[in-house]
Amino acid sequence: MRIWDIPPEKLCRRHLLGEHRELHAIWAVLTMGKTGYAGHPETLRWKGKLRALYLRHERLVGEMSRRGYKHHSALEVELATGDECQEEFVDSYEKQVAF
Ligand SMILES: [Zn+2]
Repeated sequence: MRIWDIPPEKLCRRHLLGEHRELHAIWAVLTMGKTGYAGHPETLRWKGKLRALYLRHERLVGEMSRRGYKHHSALEVELATGDECQEEFVDSYEKQVAF
């Protein structure tokens, strides 16, 4: 369960597509009250920052389409409320780049 803080164009295919899938899971938890990963640190750091999560999704989708992947699961922009900056990290940027 991870949303990277690394620019999407630097992610390998597996990490890019995996992050996109997990972002949708986190979005579902935070907007529809799904319980699956509700207590996960990665989910918690996006609470109140749906605008930032929405923007991250836009960047992922941009990179996916650049690589030729189709996308059919737009997020509802009216749910993208709250903070548009994410400044909390589960792992530091330096540590993430090393994964
Ligand atoms: Zn999507």
